[in-house]
Amino acid sequence: MFRRSGFGSGLVERVAVRIAVVGAGIIGVNAALALQARGAEVVLFDRAAPGQGASFGNAGCFAFSEVTPISMPGLAWSVPGMLADPHGPLAIRWSYLPRLAPWLMAFLKAGRSAEVARISDALSALCARAKAEYAPLLAASGAEALVRREGALFVFRDRKALEAELPEWEMKRARGITVEEIGPERLREMEPALSPDYTCAFHVPDWHHTVNPEAIVTTLAAHFRSKGGRLRRAEVDRIEDRPERLRLKPAGAPAEPFDRIVIACGAHSLHLCAPLGYKPLLDTERGYNLTLPDPQVTLTRPVCVMDKGYFMTPMEMGLRVGGGVELGGLAAAPNWDRPERMVSHAETVLPGLNRAGGAQWMGFRPSMPDSLPVIGKMPGHERLLVAFGHGHMGLTLGAVTGRLLSEIAFDAPPCVDPAPYDPARFA
Ligand SMILES: Cc1cc2nc3c(=O)[nH]c(=O)nc-3n(C[C@H](O)[C@H](O)[C@H](O)COP(=O)(O)OP(=O)(O)OC[C@H]3O[C@@H](n4cnc5c(N)ncnc54)[C@H](O)[C@@H]3O)c2cc1C
Repeated sequence: MFRRSGFGSGLVERVAVRIAVVGAGIIGVNAALALQARGAEVVLFDRAAPGQGASFGNAGCFAFSEVTPISMPGLAWSVPGMLADPHGPLAIRWSYLPRLAPWLMAFLKAGRSAEVARISDALSALCARAKAEYAPLLAASGAEALVRREGALFVFRDRKALEAELPEWEMKRARGITVEEIGPERLREMEPALSPDYTCAFHVPDWHHTVNPEAIVTTLAAHFRSKGGRLRRAEVDRIEDRPERLRLKPAGAPAEPFDRIVIACGAHSLHLCAPLGYKPLLDTERGYNLTLPDPQVTLTRPVCVMDKGYFMTPMEMGLRVGGGVELGGLAAAPNWDRPERMVSHAETVLPGLNRAGGAQWMGFRPSMPDSLPVIGKMPGHERLLVAFGHGHMGLTLGAVTGRLLSEIAFDAPPCVDPAPYDPARFA
């Protein structure tokens, strides 16, 4: 993609469109690659090395079947429990409640049945393309070596508990997702390390997982650089959008002009958006995990322990145990009891699990109340684009987000209807 630049002699030079992408997480790196593939000259800014935010320590799942939102019918009744139990799968910090209130109201509204159906359709549209969009990128960058195709298991103690979840799984099936219900023998065959207390599961054969989420981002970033992209290590202080110029101001350096700027700062995106008058209902679902370097038990695939709502994913650094949601904002100190308790529970799920030396991590999921990302032009700012709010699905939806964003940036026909991800909703 090129712009035309005329100089006195009448000569017209064709110059690549210069685009800055702010945020080198899984979303920013994918956006940078997709814009570069359209011929843009892309500079990718991050205050840290690529992949050090939420994309660093996630559960590593390419969760192509996760087409239902986090807020589901009936969730409103659980709010008192969420406030009362700081260790529950979905917890709310009392001190954060006043600031969270508008987000929480919209979140509960998204759990109404009609909304859930609409949101599931929108998530399905992205998920349906997610795998195909990643395939060429993973192959070309070498990141393929970090991916395993073993499916995932969602395990239950008994059939009654599994049946209570059936309506949600039927919604997935209705959207074309293959889900198998399996009993004790097959479960034991697939994951012999699981305690016999877990007797049944949903098996989703179509999930992939990575053995190193950080390395997925750094490998894609290296690929971007190998194709001429520039990585700049700098905090971006602000963006100026005036009719005569669009500029980005890195900390400690002069402002630089760009033709377009993409904000992909995950949960921290409001810092750059709000001064431009764009204040969407973006908040964070904090998640925790411990990665156990020498677990002494083996899993082949990600296993979700459904009675406690956490994942166990086999990685090259060890077994990663964690998940859950804590609504507490960006500033509150971590509650490390949360992942410790998950690992204590995991010791009952995987008898013989060795928890020694576990590495703690907390990440800020960038979350919109309706579990849908925002992808598109910032309202009122034709040359500014946003790509954030991927919640639990950022790794999964990275490549398809990059593609859709690049199509919107260049007014090309979009691969999916962008309306459900419109940045103007909740603004
Ligand atoms: C516990 C947990 C488990 C998860 N498991 C999964 C999973 O299995 N599968 C899945 O698909 N998703 C999962 N997720 C969600 C996923 O990790 C996120 O959706 C995704 O990482 C968001 O990516 P991002 O690029 O938007 O944000 P980030 O990865 O947070 O990247 C944002 C980047 O912006 C930079 N930045 C911010 N502000 C500025 C600034 N002003 N100037 C310069 N740079 C700036 C930051 O340094 C950072 O590198 C999980 C999340 C958590 C917390």
